[in-house]
Amino acid sequence: MNIHEYQAKEVLKSYGVKIQEGIVADSPEAAHEAAVKLNAATGISWFVIKAQIHAGGRGKGTVNETGSRGVVLAKKLEDVKEKAAGMLGGTLVTIQTGAEGKKVNKVLVAEDVYYPGASEPKEYYMSILLDRATGSNVIMASTEGGMDIEEVAEHHPEKIIKEWIDPKVGLQGFQARKVAFKLGLTGTAFKEMVKFITALYNAYVGTDSSQFEINPVLKTSDDKILAVDAKVNVDDNALYRHPNLAELRDEAEEDPLEVEAGKSGLNYVKLDGNVGCMVNGAGLAMATMDMIKLVGGEPANFLDVGGGANATTVEAGFRIILQDPNVKAILINVFGGIVRCDRIASGVVEAYRTIGDIRVPIIVRLQGTNAEEGAKIIDESGLKVFSAITLKEAADKVQDVLEGR
Ligand code: GDP
Ligand code: MN
Repeated sequence: MNIHEYQAKEVLKSYGVKIQEGIVADSPEAAHEAAVKLNAATGISWFVIKAQIHAGGRGKGTVNETGSRGVVLAKKLEDVKEKAAGMLGGTLVTIQTGAEGKKVNKVLVAEDVYYPGASEPKEYYMSILLDRATGSNVIMASTEGGMDIEEVAEHHPEKIIKEWIDPKVGLQGFQARKVAFKLGLTGTAFKEMVKFITALYNAYVGTDSSQFEINPVLKTSDDKILAVDAKVNVDDNALYRHPNLAELRDEAEEDPLEVEAGKSGLNYVKLDGNVGCMVNGAGLAMATMDMIKLVGGEPANFLDVGGGANATTVEAGFRIILQDPNVKAILINVFGGIVRCDRIASGVVEAYRTIGDIRVPIIVRLQGTNAEEGAKIIDESGLKVFSAITLKEAADKVQDVLEGR
C-alpha cells in the first residue's frame, strides 16, 4: 500500500527521521493558514507547495488546467494561497501518472529547506528495499540525488552504493557509517547522515515496509540531513499489525475496480487488452495471459479469484471485468482441485443469469475434478458460453470470437 508524502513524513518523523516540516491543506485558504502557522512556529518565510498524489515526478509535472508545476516555491506568504489554488482540484500529469494524470485533492505546504548558508545544499538519493535474491534488506544510496535514479542505474551503476542488511542482526553501526562515508560526507554532515540512515532503517523495519524511497535526501547549507520527499510502501500483508497505517489508505488514489475487487477478496490488476480473464491462482493466471498473447490477443486484466472460487466470487469477478469497456471476450480458466468443476460451472451459469445483460462471449475452460460434468453444464445452459478442455483450445476459441468466426 502506498501512502502520501505528507503521511510518510509523519511516519518517518515518529521514528526520529529528520524531515522537511510541513502542514497539509485541502483548500487555498487552508494552505495560507498552514503557511501562517509554519511561519509562527519556525520563523521561515519561504515555502514550497507540493501536490499530494500517489506518483512521483511532480516537480517536473504540469497541472493541466493551470500550467502550474506539481512542486512550486512561494517566496512570500501572500503567494501561498494563489499557488496552492493553481494545483488544488486540478489534474497533475507527471511521467509516472500516465497521460490521464491524477487529481490533486491536497497540497503539502512545507518549509523551504534549500536556504543559503555556509555550504551549498546538496541532494542525495536513498532507498531501502527487500532484496529477494539475497533474502535481506538493501540500502541503496547515491550522490546523484533528485534525479531519475533509473537513469543513474543505467548509465552510472558505479554511482549507486548498496549495503545489504541481514534481517536477523539488523543494521550495524559500521554499515551506516560506511554508506555515509561512501557518500563523501565528513564532520557534522557525516554524523547526521549516520543518524538519518539508522532512524530510516528502524522506520522501515518498524512499519513492515517493502520499500522506502527518499529522493532527495538533503544536506542543508548548515549540515542538517533531511527527507525532502518520501515514498513509503507498506507491505499489505502486514497491515493487520499496523491499524494506524492501514487508516492512511487513500482509495481515491487507487483504481476503483481494484478497490472493488479487493473488497470481494479478488486480486485484480487492470491491463490494456480486450480479453478479460478470470482464473484461480496467480501462476495459472500468468500462464493464461501468456496463452492469450500467444494466439494474438491482449489480456484486459489479471484476475485471481483464489482457491475457493464459488458462484459469489465468479459473479463479483464478472461484474468487475464487465465494467471495462475494452473487454470483447472473457476467458475463464479454472483448475478444479479444491473446488469441483461442476460447482464452478453452475456458478458461472448462475452468475451469468443473475447479471443478465452480458453481451460478450464467455469461454470457460475447466480442468480437474468433474471437468466433464462441468463442461456438460456449460454446454447445456443455452447461454453464450463456450466450454473448452485444453488451454490451447480455449485460447483458440477466444481468437475465433475476437475475429468473429
Ligand atoms: P517529485 O518531483 O515528485 O519527486 O517531488 P520532490 O519532493 O522530490 O520535489 C521535487 C524537487 O523539488 C526536488 O528535487 C527539489 O529540487 C525541489 N524542492 C523540494 N523541496 C524544496 C525546497 O524546500 N526548496 C527548493 N528550492 N526546492 C525544493
Ligand atoms: Mn522526489
